[in-house]
This record gives sequence, structure tokens and C-alpha cells, in this order.
Amino acid sequence: MGFVQRTKSCGELRAAHENQIVSLNGWAHKVRDLGGVVFIDLRDRTGLTQLTLDPANFPNLGEIKNESCLSVTGTVRVRAEATKNPKMATGDIEVVVTSYSILGAAKPLPFPVSDEDQMTSVNEELRIKHRYLDLRRPSMYRRMAIRGSALRRIRAYLDQQSFIEIETPIITKSTPEGARDYLVAYRLNPGMWYALPQSPQQYKQLLMVAGIERYYQIARCFRDESSRADRQPEFTQLDLEMSFVTQEDILNLAEGLMIDVVNGLIEEFGLDKEKVEPFERMTYDEAMFLYGCDKPDLRFGLRLFDLTDAVKDSEFGVFKNTIESGGMIRGVRYPGGAKLSRKEVGVLEEFCKEFGAKGMASLAVETPGPDAVDGSYVSKNGLTVRSSIAKFFTEAQLDAILEASKAEAGDLICIIADNYATGNNVLYRLRLEIGNRCNLRDPRILKYAWVLDFPLVEWDAENGRWSPSHHPFTMPKEEDLIHLDTDPGRIRADCYDMVVNGMECASGSIRIHRTDVQSRIFTLLGIDEKTQQERFGHMLEAFSYGAPPHGGIAPGIDRLVMILTDTENIREVIAFPKTGNGYDPMMDAPSTVDAQQWAELGLRISK
Ligand code: ASP
Repeated sequence: MGFVQRTKSCGELRAAHENQIVSLNGWAHKVRDLGGVVFIDLRDRTGLTQLTLDPANFPNLGEIKNESCLSVTGTVRVRAEATKNPKMATGDIEVVVTSYSILGAAKPLPFPVSDEDQMTSVNEELRIKHRYLDLRRPSMYRRMAIRGSALRRIRAYLDQQSFIEIETPIITKSTPEGARDYLVAYRLNPGMWYALPQSPQQYKQLLMVAGIERYYQIARCFRDESSRADRQPEFTQLDLEMSFVTQEDILNLAEGLMIDVVNGLIEEFGLDKEKVEPFERMTYDEAMFLYGCDKPDLRFGLRLFDLTDAVKDSEFGVFKNTIESGGMIRGVRYPGGAKLSRKEVGVLEEFCKEFGAKGMASLAVETPGPDAVDGSYVSKNGLTVRSSIAKFFTEAQLDAILEASKAEAGDLICIIADNYATGNNVLYRLRLEIGNRCNLRDPRILKYAWVLDFPLVEWDAENGRWSPSHHPFTMPKEEDLIHLDTDPGRIRADCYDMVVNGMECASGSIRIHRTDVQSRIFTLLGIDEKTQQERFGHMLEAFSYGAPPHGGIAPGIDRLVMILTDTENIREVIAFPKTGNGYDPMMDAPSTVDAQQWAELGLRISK
């Protein structure tokens, strides 16, 4: 079926095109029938143009519904001054239509496509069910365009650095990344299963053994994590691996890449973000100590501080008992928090309890003045400390608290007494909460950092064994290997995370490339030799044929686009996402299959 093809796009017409005869193709974004005249905003991916149609010339205009797909031809006319629309790029002109045809008629819509403001109230499942309509909205188009450009920039950057893009299998064997596998039945031998890869980890390491030296892939990863509504069953990573490199080489490559891609996108799309600066670096231990977590939000300071030493001789029973049982007294500053009422401080304490704290002690710090109540302590440097627990401390102890916390007038010093892990978790949350309340988490700033030297393994109390902090292929630090048999929790690894604004955005490591070391680590993880052979025999064997030292990293693409587009929901940056429980309402997947398919695979549901 022929149609009049566009001579111009909907976003490009200006006053300079006056009197030109143009043809446009696109969708009826909004149809407004004013009786004597019908206005249609015609939309294509470049923008909108106002069409003007005279019902006297077109008796069937009523057939053009919102979102009908149209071809129109007409004359560009400069609008009268009063009717120009400065909010629209093409707002100086309109096209007076002389002929049109409907290329695709539109039924009544399940939700309005044109009105961005109304979208927040549209049920998300309905949007995903009609994703082809949802994606027509300019804001969705923009997210897809940013995503596409990110991939293009990544490829261009890595191409310049002599990487090659290689596709690895989707139908394969399980690669452990800590989640459940998606399984695919094998028809030719019922009872045998493929797994979808949780990441191409093993393949990329085998590519290094194969001498590829610099590999990357825009890789789809599959992880069955049903309990996590913010995750998707499949997501995308930039997976890369390099040979003959140290950790430093990979950090530099990945940092250079990220800065290039992000700053390029900020410029290309005019994003309301400040350019990314070179990354800060800290060790895992430092991150835990200063921020209570391994993915600190560094857009603001408010580092945690330790008061254990300052108060170790105090008369305050809670602190005393905590220290005696091996715990710590640590805190965070709340700027401006001194003015909180007793009730508001109670709310903050409840917040801490939600994350496992037994309570929260606090000291308000003020300049001496009419607010200072009896019993307040005035410190050496002229600050007043007001607190119901102040009486338990000597003047020297209060001075030490002020010193350690670097408190200023107006601050509330919030203190948690607990074991290190619990205290950290509480203070991590509390610090972010204070950051929110004080508006310190500026969305225009992208504060990237490296967190280095993660522990190799963590104790998995539930299953009573050591589990990898990252994955089982991570290289332990040579100098820490002496702890392998005695205290594995102390072994650090050449393992690093890239974090941004309090989120992990990439993980990587130097890998083990020796059969004996890999086998010892598997053993530490409770994988006996027989199982090692069954599951990872190919890795152990490959490492015995001249494997090069190698390492890599895998930045998440979805997360990157989320950050750049200020979206908090991963589904907003994926063209065809699944709902929170892994369902695709558009395709109606997962779905049942024919009885014959069950039979071919030798499957049936057991009751
Ligand atoms: N395969 C790892 C992951 O998915 C990334 C890496 O170590 O390169 O987290």
C-alpha cells in the first residue's frame, strides 16, 4: 500500500520554512476539534508540529482519533503572533493541511499517550501490557535513545582500546553469581538441563585462556531473584575481561570509560547533571568504618565517628555494657538536629530501631544562650551540650565526644551502641536519612568511587559455610593466603566495586588463573573435589594449559541509564520489562505449553 512519504520531520519546521509544501508522517498526538477548525499535534520521534485542518474541506475528520498514524501534506504557515507557542520548538509555525491519509487507524486507548502528567496515575501493569503505546511517549523515547547512545559510546571507546566484542552462549551451564538459575529442558535427553547464564563469567575467563586478551560483550544476564521487586529476571551488563593486567589497569580502563560515556551523554542530551570527576578510592574496611556500608553516598560528608575510646570509662551503663561485650560506640552528626523536639528525636530513634538498633543516644550541641538549660555542659571551645545522658560523663569525656564528632553549634550527635556490624548498618541508614532530611543528596551530582580490597569470603550463618563475597573465581591477595586454613574471613581479595551516589554500579576482580589455587578456594567454599570436577572441571583443566593472569569488571547498563535519567525503577529504562513478579503481561509470559511439548521433554508436574 503506497503512502506519501515525509519530506520533513515533525521537529524541524521553523518560520524559515514559510510557504513550503511539506509532507509529514507520524501520530495524532492530540486532536482538538474547535468546530470551525481542527488542530492536530502530529508527533514523530523528533517532535511535534501543529496541523490545521478545515472541516469544510474534509468531511470525515472525525475518523482521526488520538494516536492514529497519519500521512499529511500541506503548506507551512507562520502563526499569528498571539497564537505562537514558545514552549514548542516548532511553535512559530503550523501546517495547513491540503490532503491526508490514515495509515493506521487507532481504537480508543487504554491510557492517554499524550499526557505525561497523567502517567503517574496509570497502572504500571497496564503500561507494560501496552508497552508499544507506552514507548510512544516522548519521555520513554528519550530514555531508549539515551540507552542506545550509551551502548554506542561504550562500543566506540572499547574499540579504540583494541577490545573485541564476542558473543557467548545463552543456553549453557550454570555460572554461580549467587542467585537461582533459570533452567531450560533438553529435549534429546529428558532430565538434562541447560541453565541461562547469570553472567558470562566463565566464558570470558576461558576467552582469556584462549588468547583473546581484550574481550567485551553487552551481555544479558539471567538471575531468578523472585523476592526482589527492584530486579528484573534478565538485565544487561557491559561484561569485559583483560589479560596481563593488574587491578590498577582495570580500574583505569573502567574509570576512563565511565567518565567518557557519562560526560558524553550529559552533553549530547543536555542532562541536568554536573560532569563526572575522577573517582575517589577507598578500601572496603575504610568504607565500612567511615560510612557503615560498602557503597557509600559521597555526595556529602557526615562521616561516622568512633566514640568507644572517648567514653570507655563513663558511668553510662548502656555504653559500658556494650564495650564490655566487645561492641562499639559510634555516631553520626545531624546538622541542625539540635533543634529537634524530644518527640522528633523519638521518631529518629524509632527509625534506628527498624534497622536493629536497641536505641539511640543523642546530644544536642548549641552555642550558650537563652536555650541553654540548667545542667548543660559548656565545653572548652564554647559549645553547650544538652542531653539527658550528659550527667553520666565527665567534662573531659564530653570534650572528647565533641572532638571526635567534630560537632558544630546546631548539631545533634546521634550515637549507637552495638556490635560493629549492627551499628554500621544502623548508622549507614541513619546517615542517608540525615542526608535526605538536610537535602544533601543533590541529584545533579554523580559521585563515583572505587571500593577496593573486599574480603574474599563471608560467613554464611544460615548454611554454616563460607560463601564468596563476589564469586568463586576471585583472586585472594597473596599476602593474605596464610589465613586460608586458620581465619579465611581475614583474606582480602583483588576485588573491587564501582559505586555511584550510594549504589553499586559495577563489580570486578583479578581472577585466579592457577588450577591449584582455584581448587583450594573451591574447597574452602565447601565444594568437594568430585563436585569441583562436575561443575568446574573445564575451568580447572583450562588453567593447566598456560593461562594468563587476567581480570575484569561488569558495569550494569540498566543502573547507568537509571542514574542518568533520574528513574528509580529499573522497568522504566527497559523497553520490554517484566513486572515485579517476573510476569510479562504483553506477551503473557510465562504461559502454559502444549501437552505435546510436555511429552517431548519427558516432563510432568508431580502432585
Ligand atoms: N561476573 C561478575 C558479575 O556479574 C562481574 C565480574 O566479575 O566481572 O558480577
